[in-house]
Amino acid sequence: DARVAIIGAGLAGSEAALVLAEYGISVDLFEMRPHTMTEAHTSSKPAELVCSNSLKSMELPSAHALLKEELSLLESPLLEIAKMSAVPAGSALAVDRSLFSARVEERIRASSKITLHRKEIQRLPKGYDYTLIATGPLTSSSFSDYLQELFARDNFNFYDAIAPIIDAESIDMSKAFSASRWSDGPGDYINCPFTKKEYDQFYSALLEADEVKRHSFEDAAFFEACLPIEVVARRGYDTLRFGMMKPVGLDHPKTGEKFFAVCQLRQENVHGTAYNMVGFQTRMTFGEQDRVLRMIPGLEEAEFLRHGTIHRNSYLNSPDLLQRDLSFLEYPNLFLAGQLTGNEGYTESICTGHCAAQSIAGRIHNYSLDFPGNVTAIGGVLDHITTPPLKGRYTPTNINFSLLAPPGKKMRKAQRKAFYCDRSLKEMTVWKHEHGSFFKLRNHR
Ligand code: FAD
Repeated sequence: DARVAIIGAGLAGSEAALVLAEYGISVDLFEMRPHTMTEAHTSSKPAELVCSNSLKSMELPSAHALLKEELSLLESPLLEIAKMSAVPAGSALAVDRSLFSARVEERIRASSKITLHRKEIQRLPKGYDYTLIATGPLTSSSFSDYLQELFARDNFNFYDAIAPIIDAESIDMSKAFSASRWSDGPGDYINCPFTKKEYDQFYSALLEADEVKRHSFEDAAFFEACLPIEVVARRGYDTLRFGMMKPVGLDHPKTGEKFFAVCQLRQENVHGTAYNMVGFQTRMTFGEQDRVLRMIPGLEEAEFLRHGTIHRNSYLNSPDLLQRDLSFLEYPNLFLAGQLTGNEGYTESICTGHCAAQSIAGRIHNYSLDFPGNVTAIGGVLDHITTPPLKGRYTPTNINFSLLAPPGKKMRKAQRKAFYCDRSLKEMTVWKHEHGSFFKLRNHR
């Protein structure tokens, strides 16, 4: 019987282990937590979401929703568990993170095919037919060193910043109000509204706030989609008001009052006892976060269950290293998945974990499996990872429609989005049907 080792029980590794088990393949899944923790994880649970609790939009036509639809078509185990652990978040799929991870662990432990080892891997384990590396953006330093030795290629480090979480009871609801953008009724978000004067004071405090000192190994290349709030603020007085603090569509539901800016809080757990400050990733010191963020109307007495922090984020130069089935050119039985590939985001990491597992299962069952091209979202993600960029160096990205092949004729924006989604889902359905005999092997729940 073939033996597979998976290194890292994060989003990609857990997804891959569960998919392989469904193909009846035995997996040793190695996870270093809790013995060695990362800078962002706080538990020993698999598939821990380290920042936001949202897997983004579920509403078609959008690229994020499309990727999820495609993964649902392929019966992604983690996506199914995410849906079972959902909390209200408008059109987004947000989850109770503890429940989500607990259910992933339950599913892993219930599988007779998966053995979970709590151990930090420092070099590739011996004796396996296939190995999948899924150690993520916070890969342990000894294993990072080893990977750099093994591939002798550029490896990047850069910052990500995470948003604070607030105790719901400490929010002053006489100032804040519940509403979703543009919708009537109570709404899923708590909104903290600013007058111009309040915004001016907050903005000045933000610009002057002390930040955590950077370590020498971390350079200042922030990932654009996850910029710290103070960095966004420095780009101009109105940048926040046109970004994460946009007041549009958030007039007061009772009084109709309009606001100069709004800070939105999204429910963090099923019980509704914790709220996440949407888009407020920060590298202000904890003391400064207490001082500055409590200037937000409604958060004067805020109790921070978790402060915002900064984190390292690593990825490999995948287009030079990987084939489209996510195996290494140089080591065909070694695979890569998750954020280390340069995909960016929770769902994207689940996606590459899923694809790597399908590739390995195909090899073991002697089945030739070509993933669909970039007329699908999954194909777009795989192409991004395995195709050298036209210009400059390779950089990570979230799923977005620019990764998909254009329609070939001019269309209005809304029509184009709908086109991408229709085309992808049709293609994915046909592809799954064509590989029906392979998918039938996957019945070992
Ligand atoms: P992970 O989920 O991190 O899993 C990797 C696992 O490998 C971890 O459990 C780790 O403990 C383990 N491991 C590491 N080294 C070893 C070793 N040597 N031996 C054994 N085990 C090891 N994406 C979003 O969509 N939304 C967000 O809000 C978001 N916020 C982020 C915040 C931070 C601070 C970071 C770093 C990333 C964030 N991301 C976010 C990006 C990314 O989607 C997540 O990091 C995602 O969890 C990546 O999935 P993964 O499976 O590649 O890695």
